[in-house]
Amino acid sequence: MRVTRITPHVYKISIWIGLPISVWAVKENDGMMLVDAGIGQMGKGILKEIEQLDIGPLKRIVLTHGHPDHVGAIERIRSGRDVPVYAHPLEIPYIEGELPFPDRKKASVLVHPGLTQPLPDSEDGLSKIGGLKPFLTPGHSPGHTVFYHVEDDVLLGGDLFTSTRRGKLKRPIPLFTYNMPLAVASGSVVKYLKPEILSLCHGTDIRQPSLQYDAYAGKWGKM
Ligand SMILES: [Zn+2]
Ligand SMILES: [Zn+2]
Repeated sequence: MRVTRITPHVYKISIWIGLPISVWAVKENDGMMLVDAGIGQMGKGILKEIEQLDIGPLKRIVLTHGHPDHVGAIERIRSGRDVPVYAHPLEIPYIEGELPFPDRKKASVLVHPGLTQPLPDSEDGLSKIGGLKPFLTPGHSPGHTVFYHVEDDVLLGGDLFTSTRRGKLKRPIPLFTYNMPLAVASGSVVKYLKPEILSLCHGTDIRQPSLQYDAYAGKWGKM
């Protein structure tokens, strides 16, 4: 596993299995939280890496979405402890196997029902959770959510995009994206937030992604 410190509070933990799969460890005042939970085989490694980072106990897990490569190691990482798990309420029926993802025929239980709680919200949208502000960005999955670390100015983008090795924005993996035009439109969150860094689950991180967004939307938005 490879661990990179992206910003003072945010670490990216990745494996490579033909493509990179990543999760993020975020340092908080009272411990740390994990964004996404990788595939099952990452569980042990993730636990070891967060222990070595020594940034405090795991307080919670937040999910960008419910695809198996983002929730697979939840049970292992929690290992029986009472660590809460959060996802956008729109995503939970797919995670719990109540509905099939819109581009799939069969529903499957990816995380046992009742475990995942809805991200807290307030009148003006989703509430900040620790140092992260969530934004709903549907299209790759119905309740796909990105998390902006306000203090560090880094956006944890999940599968909202992929990228080239040189850090050019690419659309999310088409095979697993049920509504590409919507996913491309949701990507405009980078223009709204203008993060210094966009970090992706399956790709190289990108500096100032807002500068690339119009060209990206021009290329992929009309398909
Ligand atoms: Zn995905
Ligand atoms: Zn993914």
